[in-house]
Amino acid sequence: MLFKKKNEYKFIEKGRFNVDIDIKMNALEDPFSTIPPAEEMIVFLKQHIGPETNLVVNVGESVRYGQKIGDNPDAGPMVVPIHSPVKGTIKEEIEMLNPISGKIEKAVIIATKDDNQEPFYEPLDPEKESRNILLERVREAGIVGLGGASFPTHVKLNTSQKISHLIINAKESDPNIACDCRLMMEKPKEIINGINIMAKILGVKKITFATRTQEGETPEFEALLEENEISLERMRPNYSIGSEKLLVKEVLDKEVPSGKFPPDIGVLVHNVATAYAVEEAIEKGEPLVSRGLTYYSKEKGGKNLWVRMGTPVDHILKFVGDSPTQYERIILGSILMGPTIPNPSYPILKATSAVTGFTPNEPDPYREPLPCIRCGYCNTICPVYIYPQLIMEAEKKKDANRLRKLHVEDCIECGLCSYVCPSRIRFTEYLTNGKNLVRDD
Ligand code: SF4
Ligand code: SF4
Repeated sequence: MLFKKKNEYKFIEKGRFNVDIDIKMNALEDPFSTIPPAEEMIVFLKQHIGPETNLVVNVGESVRYGQKIGDNPDAGPMVVPIHSPVKGTIKEEIEMLNPISGKIEKAVIIATKDDNQEPFYEPLDPEKESRNILLERVREAGIVGLGGASFPTHVKLNTSQKISHLIINAKESDPNIACDCRLMMEKPKEIINGINIMAKILGVKKITFATRTQEGETPEFEALLEENEISLERMRPNYSIGSEKLLVKEVLDKEVPSGKFPPDIGVLVHNVATAYAVEEAIEKGEPLVSRGLTYYSKEKGGKNLWVRMGTPVDHILKFVGDSPTQYERIILGSILMGPTIPNPSYPILKATSAVTGFTPNEPDPYREPLPCIRCGYCNTICPVYIYPQLIMEAEKKKDANRLRKLHVEDCIECGLCSYVCPSRIRFTEYLTNGKNLVRDD
């Protein structure tokens, strides 16, 4: 029989939630190595969704590790401060391409003085402090969602909507990336404390921890979950349901309607690394100036690194024993998601959970795209049921109205449409520009 019976035909299902893209997590066994700061750090003054910060120190001024160097509270609640990742001197304010926003933005070059890491803020006792004090610290520490969205965490935690369920996202669905799951192995108590602080701020009792780790991989962490009455949900290690809305669907079997967000249905999702950052800010007085990421290349495999924001990628390459000329393309992200940086002098940002290098033997498959043959694969595979091919056409015409009708803003930037396209069309630019067109219209 040429075609399978209807109930055996899995294409639609595969195109929705069960896309298996050889998800590996070899780096899980690799402990974090801490990279010392580079001689010069490049720190963007905007590393969140929201307005840019202004430099609040002078060029030439000495700064402490963790000192606030950028803020703009007058621009509204969506601004979070930027801090110096090193003790050093503000050498220069520059403008350069922010690889995440795709726009030219302000950054500062900081000449590093030493490796000092004394926390800048006083620790707080989460049991004693009020909700408002805790929220203020979360903002002051510059915390944003570390799963990639960079949404200000204090705004998300301060929602006026009634939240009944907190989901902690440790799905980590990107191929070859393991830094979140590794964090669960290395910092179990801190993560649990961070989750409890978030729950206190939200006044939520029901908490689910969604993870791709398997039984026996994180025993200490799982014991703590049980002790703290946090339920554990094991996720299938398939791609793209790390996205908030899809995670809610997978964990609670509830749809978040288009144009709405999980809080609209009483659910809040936070990334596991964000919970850790919240704990560090409250209990240790540490602003968000470093994070865990997985460095991956086909030759080297995966390596978990603890890196300060503003560290140039070529410094990371040197640390792992690679040469900046060895890779033809470097992505701030995984093989499926993330922007390609113009050269390795670009720094990592708060949103960088991975750095992936491609050698000249792995040429960019999207370099010479062919015309669209209207096969429809991209439309079928999209996990949020939008039509990337139609969006591409509307973006080429700069038709904001049509883009809005096509719900471009629902795109979770999973990269699957580019992955399946036989014409090797890279959708990233059309989707990002499309979202910007709708936002600016
Ligand atoms: S990148 Fe966006 S449009 Fe493309 S498949 Fe993913 S969600 Fe759909
Ligand atoms: S997958 Fe590529 S070729 Fe097929 S419809 Fe989409 S854009 Fe066109």
